[in-house]
Amino acid sequence: MALVRNETAVLKNFINGKWVDSSGAETLEVPNPATGEVLARVPISTKEDVERAVQAAKKAFASWKNTPVPKRARIMFKFHHLLTEHHEELARLIVQENGKAYKEAYGEVQRGIECVEFAAGAPTLMMGETLAEIAEDIDSEMLRYPLGVVGGITPFNFPMMVPLWMFPLAIACGNTFVLKPSERTPILANKLAELFTQAGAPEGVLNIVHGAHDVVNALIAHEDIRAISFVGSQPVAKYVYEQSAARGKRVQALSGAKNHHIVMPDANVELAAQHIVNSAFGSAGQRCMACSAVVVVGENERFVQTLKKQADELVIGNGMDEDVLLTPVIRQSHREKVLGYIEKGVEEGAVLIRDGRKEMAELSEGNFLGPTIFDHVTPTMTIAKEEIFAPVLSLLRAADLDEALEYIRQSRYGNGATIYTKDAKAVRQFREEADAGMLGINVGVPATMAFFPFSGWKDSFYGDLHVNGKDGVNFYTRKKMITSRFDF
Ligand code: NAD
Repeated sequence: MALVRNETAVLKNFINGKWVDSSGAETLEVPNPATGEVLARVPISTKEDVERAVQAAKKAFASWKNTPVPKRARIMFKFHHLLTEHHEELARLIVQENGKAYKEAYGEVQRGIECVEFAAGAPTLMMGETLAEIAEDIDSEMLRYPLGVVGGITPFNFPMMVPLWMFPLAIACGNTFVLKPSERTPILANKLAELFTQAGAPEGVLNIVHGAHDVVNALIAHEDIRAISFVGSQPVAKYVYEQSAARGKRVQALSGAKNHHIVMPDANVELAAQHIVNSAFGSAGQRCMACSAVVVVGENERFVQTLKKQADELVIGNGMDEDVLLTPVIRQSHREKVLGYIEKGVEEGAVLIRDGRKEMAELSEGNFLGPTIFDHVTPTMTIAKEEIFAPVLSLLRAADLDEALEYIRQSRYGNGATIYTKDAKAVRQFREEADAGMLGINVGVPATMAFFPFSGWKDSFYGDLHVNGKDGVNFYTRKKMITSRFDF
């Protein structure tokens, strides 16, 4: 979308507890992906805006780090309460700016609330360790401390959940935070800041700077930012990881995905198809845990036909309408890119058994694309290797589980994988050999909950400590060791 200059309805940045104008002159439209209606304009903020936000966060850190941990946790309890009270409103906002179905958005709000729930456990989570008598009359203890100012950079596909993976836990651990939300779904972040302030967060503890790559580069380059949490596409994740690490920052960068679902010959065909249709086409395939490749083991035409039939029957439309499963992709430019992948699939010899381009013509208003299924895809084809991030599903054929697992090993990505089977031995082999960080056994979207790490492998993650769970606590704290002698 072209950069536009406009004086009205421009979102504000949130710096030092105040809503302020960006110093950037340019703005981008934020359209509803289902209707094209412009909801707001997002400012393309500058290095100077980042500087102001970091200075505010740095100042706030001086007192926030000494705020008693239970007091910090109480703000999280209040925040949790407010998010729960606004559950439906938040879900509606997500549908408007992201386009996903209301039910999906409602679930996303719930996942976000669970992150706040987890962060409210800070007094327990931040506890250190002590061992008396590590030597005669000598004790050792470990205490946890926050890092300082943390920067967070988030993608368009989970405007609520992903920011909440980051700032509640970072802040509960005593850090202060500068968030750069996706410029494609920036509206919800402002609502989160509003509710967090109502919950009692002091000024400067959470700051929001809207914008694009300039803001990201300024955050990475800023010497007062101690750590970066990033979630987004693979090339950007790698760039952010490398640039941040080169400057000595702690960094966790969650990246793209290609998630394989293996359908074994003994699988419950109806259920497997249902889970795969939901996983591949729900949220228009724009989930990092979406199924994008199915490996059909053995001859299983019944499964392929059932899948196709269920895809034919799913409801496409505006996420606010009831029963809708397949919603629009985020932007027309993204749809254009996806159409290129469909052409490439045909060109490289995959068999297009369901062409979603026909629904495009029927639903001309938003960025819709119908469910698209390719059969007889091979692992070397472009559509098998690259993340398409759309309702485009590839079916690969394998003779046995060993071959199916080999396809997963060959993928550069390793976010998630699922197997559909009743065979305990197959389950165990899959658990041990699937080369991905989050596995599902008869589960369509095996995304982890807030108390476990979100655990992508290979090019789906750059860094050491993942978001959420104990990894999240370790990421947002540093440890101090004290050794004491008492034989004086
Ligand atoms: P994106 O990479 O386009 O944008 C992510 C963030 O990076 C945004 O805030 C954006 O402003 C910024 N950005 C984009 N290009 C940049 C550049 N050249 N330099 C600096 N910053 C830049 O990602 P997206 O399209 O918003 O989100 C979808 C992607 O995120 C998919 O690849 C998806 O798999 C991934 N994702 C991964 C996870 C996970 O847990 N692994 C979760 C959600 C989304």
